[in-house]
Amino acid sequence: MLNFLIMKKIVVAGAGGFIAGHLVVELKNKGYQVRAVDKKPLNQWYQVSEGVDNLVLDLTIKENCYKAVNGYNEVFNLAADMGGMGFIESHKADCMLSVLINTHMLMAAKDCGIDRFFYASSACVYNGDKQTDPENPGLKEEDAYPALAEDGYGWEKLFSERMCRHFREDFGLITRVARFHNVYGPHGTYDGGREKAPAAICRKVIDKELYGKDEIVIWGDGHQTRSFMYIDDCIKGIMDIMYSDIEEPINLGSSEMVSINQLTDLAESIAGYKLKRTYDLNAPKGVRGRNSENTLIRKYLGWEPSIPLKDGLTKTFIWIKEQMIMEKSAKKSADNREKHGSKYNN
Ligand code: NAD
Repeated sequence: MLNFLIMKKIVVAGAGGFIAGHLVVELKNKGYQVRAVDKKPLNQWYQVSEGVDNLVLDLTIKENCYKAVNGYNEVFNLAADMGGMGFIESHKADCMLSVLINTHMLMAAKDCGIDRFFYASSACVYNGDKQTDPENPGLKEEDAYPALAEDGYGWEKLFSERMCRHFREDFGLITRVARFHNVYGPHGTYDGGREKAPAAICRKVIDKELYGKDEIVIWGDGHQTRSFMYIDDCIKGIMDIMYSDIEEPINLGSSEMVSINQLTDLAESIAGYKLKRTYDLNAPKGVRGRNSENTLIRKYLGWEPSIPLKDGLTKTFIWIKEQMIMEKSAKKSADNREKHGSKYNN
């Protein structure tokens, strides 16, 4: 009974998406009362958890943010209109409109007496001039200023980080901000235009086995570098940062930097075959080199994301392959139904 009385009530925004879907599972497993909110219809959520209050609300609308947080204790805001490079380079206005989500969520959190507020920022806040070398030594938190963020998406994140800071300083709302560096894992986007490099490359490699496509098109020259954080590290980091005393935005990313060519090598070695590579130099490719510098997170938490890319990518590859096999057989059954349907109708 006492447990019931003191059980924390937590709102997760963007819960139909990749990272927040995993976060809901984690919070539920810890025994919290969870409300999961997303604007997508429920049947499009990557994970729908039972025993959770699942709400479909557009959180750009202020009244909906009050509906979402009222009566709850804490908020994790991971809702944003976003995707990989292909999406953010061609949807700058849409990305910037996510500012409405965080602004209204902060206002609702302040007015409804929320105790703690987490905001998911991004490595895209970092100054582009510090990411011109593929041998990037790692972006330190201070490298966000002087500001020259990724156009559209990155500026929105930087502005929203500052909004969190001012709500903390001026209104006493406890806010925590993590700058995620590329996150990957099962139950995320792998096609449709919003997918990021690890999922896109797994899908293109699997295309050979399922559809006989022998060639892989890589965006850019393949020498651009990134680091990729497996979802389990991301969830641990979110939880630890949320309940820490870290007031300033902090990196949450792996420091295992690889080129896109190396990432492709890895996906091919998981598959057990190689593809012919062509390079699309006109495709969106983002900055030349990006890595997470983890001194600060090690200092505060005595921990940093460390799941090897090889391990995480193997799990991701297996999950994407299962999805693609299911899609293929569903399409085959639909085609068969259509074929037989027309035969019987004739
Ligand atoms: P995602 O696209 O899978 O999830 C975001 C969710 O937000 C989606 O389900 C979407 O429907 C929802 N959403 C968008 N607009 C909304 C609105 N108006 N109202 C309610 N819900 C809305 O993305 P993700 O990869 O899970 O990212 C989660 C957060 O982490 C985002 O804020 C993103 O910017 C940040 N981030 C992610 C990465 C990454 O590599 N995945 C890197 C840096 C930062």
